[in-house]
Amino acid sequence: AVAVGLAAAVVVRRRMKKEGKWGKAMGILKEFEEKCATPVAKLKQVADAMTVEMHAGLASEGKSPIWVFYLQHSDEEGVYYALDLGGTNFRVLRVQLGGKGVGLVNQEFTEASIPPNLMTGTSDALFEYIAAELAKFVAQEGPEYKLPPGRQRELGFTFSFPVMQTSITSGTLLRWTKGFSIDDVVGQDVVAQLSKAMQKLGLDMCVSALVNDTVGTLAGGRYNNKDVVAAVILGTGSNAAYVERAQAIPKWHGPSKSGDMVINMEWGNFRSSHLPLTDYDHAMDAEGLNPGDQIYEKMISGMYLGEIIRRVLLRMAVETAIFGDTVPPKLKEPFVLRTPDTSAMHHDASSDLKVVDNKLKEVLEISNTSLRVRKIIVELCNIVATRGARLAAAGILGVLKKMGRDTLKDGDQQKTVIAMDGGLYEHYTEFSKCLENTLEELLGEDVFKSIVIEHANDGSGIGAALLAASHSKYLEDQS
Ligand code: BGC
Ligand code: MG
Repeated sequence: AVAVGLAAAVVVRRRMKKEGKWGKAMGILKEFEEKCATPVAKLKQVADAMTVEMHAGLASEGKSPIWVFYLQHSDEEGVYYALDLGGTNFRVLRVQLGGKGVGLVNQEFTEASIPPNLMTGTSDALFEYIAAELAKFVAQEGPEYKLPPGRQRELGFTFSFPVMQTSITSGTLLRWTKGFSIDDVVGQDVVAQLSKAMQKLGLDMCVSALVNDTVGTLAGGRYNNKDVVAAVILGTGSNAAYVERAQAIPKWHGPSKSGDMVINMEWGNFRSSHLPLTDYDHAMDAEGLNPGDQIYEKMISGMYLGEIIRRVLLRMAVETAIFGDTVPPKLKEPFVLRTPDTSAMHHDASSDLKVVDNKLKEVLEISNTSLRVRKIIVELCNIVATRGARLAAAGILGVLKKMGRDTLKDGDQQKTVIAMDGGLYEHYTEFSKCLENTLEELLGEDVFKSIVIEHANDGSGIGAALLAASHSKYLEDQS
């Protein structure tokens, strides 16, 4: 009887230990969920803080948001090139514009990924690599693209990092984001760097416009639809641009006080005490390449969502042994868990969460997880994506407020079109669905009906080519 009693006690103790482990894991999950909460009242505070920052940015010199001139042509004609550098991939495009009433006739592009070592190497290595890809693209084109003697190919350069724009064809890099870190470019004119590399390769091309991807997306969207007044990128990084009246920009001392300007907000660098930051966010920020920068971006963009989840999972693995007695080594690697992986797990609709199981094996080298563990992981994905999407919606509300488009005026028929792009928005359905639902929740049904969110697929490259074209035409008209 004693032996049986002992055995029973051991079983009970084991069960308690097991329950303890689950209890602890659930505790970590619950606490994280609470810290990530984004009730409507909080989102409205975030939106208001965003609007306040926008006013401040328009008033103070040398502070983002940063302006660029908006050139309102749409009858450009000819062949223009674009180079789009700003995230995991970069692309080279050629667009053919048909002139008045015709618009875009043709576009071709190639895409390549940036070798990771170039993202943290030297300025020359990066720009020479890009120029070489551009040269390859040009070398492959047919004789129909041969330019008459004395004419140079013109390029719109989409460079999607914070830049202090000094003219339409020049701008100095303020700081890197999104995993890039090349010290000798900071403070330099990125157009000069690219031009130098093109010259070195004997590539006969000049940069006619330097644009941010948000600005390119806005310009590209507006080319087709005049109701487009803002652009939002939700991809590796995040940012927004919108159309502002020149007279509403105190720091604008340019030639004309009338007309429209495009404001590149650099909203990724937004921060506010209202943002629901957790210890995991603080640790990720402190240990990253750009501590203290891009706080909002680190909560809402594709580069970071998977990494936040990895950090929570690691804590669970260490403190509650949900993956067994040894902590899976892969789980200790920063940024191994990418947002496309967490997105796939989040969307897993199978009853036994097969996709989660596969991803855990493939990405983290963890096998034999129980359904319970997989469910926790899906829940984590949900928490992080929901927080990001809802905060992104709050940012959009802030922009709409600044534009006075968050309410309906009497008899108002105005449509507000927002051009959206980026892999996160495009591919992470739960994220984009949540973003749109939240925007409706914040604006109310009637106002929400006046807002159109339009997917501008890769609009930034085309927009850059358009801006290159319109700037070149502008110069011609002047002379
Ligand atoms: C950059 C922005 C860019 C955004 C989206 C951010 O990290 O600072 O300039 O527009 O990513 O690509
Ligand atoms: Mg795309």
